[in-house]
Amino acid sequence: MSERVEPTITERLAEVRARIARAEAEAGRPPGSVTLVAVSKTKPASAIREAYAAGQRVFGENYVQELVDKRRELADLSDLELHFIGHLQRNKAKDVVLARATVETVDSDRLASELDKRASAAGGRVPVLVQVNVAREPQKSGCDPDAVAALIAHVRSLPGLELRGLMTIPPLDEEPERIRPHFSALRALRDRHLDASAWLSMGMSADLEVAIAEGATHVRVGTAIFGAR
Ligand SMILES: *Cc1c(COP(=O)(O)O)cnc(C)c1O
Repeated sequence: MSERVEPTITERLAEVRARIARAEAEAGRPPGSVTLVAVSKTKPASAIREAYAAGQRVFGENYVQELVDKRRELADLSDLELHFIGHLQRNKAKDVVLARATVETVDSDRLASELDKRASAAGGRVPVLVQVNVAREPQKSGCDPDAVAALIAHVRSLPGLELRGLMTIPPLDEEPERIRPHFSALRALRDRHLDASAWLSMGMSADLEVAIAEGATHVRVGTAIFGAR
């Protein structure tokens, strides 16, 4: 009468790392060229500690208050890197800056300017990515592909921001192959507007292999590491 034993976070993490390594090899990319952002939203700080103990350093959070709380609860982990990957309202920009997060979701001049103002006040620089709505889905965050050049120029003009690259959340689809064109579209925007070393944050639990084949430098993986939310 054995109960089904759930794999631990450490085991799931090892599995995801193996998937990433296989995808890197299949794409002819060097081992370690893809950074895993472990998406810990809605999961307790103890889950982050377990992943951290297994060597994971970069974590993604979607909600400002949760990000702030976790930075405080995990203050002893000095090399913990937090990425904000949710929709950011301007009145929360200050909290995200003070939590020393990399902001993956800059999608407007106004948000960029607010982050710049808060970063300058705090005497630092915020690493940011420009979020692109590659499929031009209505109601979805992210800047229009045609507006990317102007937003990049604005971000580059702001001394408090450090532009790292581009991020996208493509349309939901069960079939990773149907998402591929959206990943390659983000890569094409990178190739047109930024240098080849700029980050591409794309790919999640279900489609990270396709994203890596299309050039992802960062994959954001939640469920496959921490289980269902
Ligand atoms: C939740 C989330 C993820 C992780 O999704 P999973 O399917 O759980 O891997 C990645 N990116 C963003 C922006 C998210 O909100």
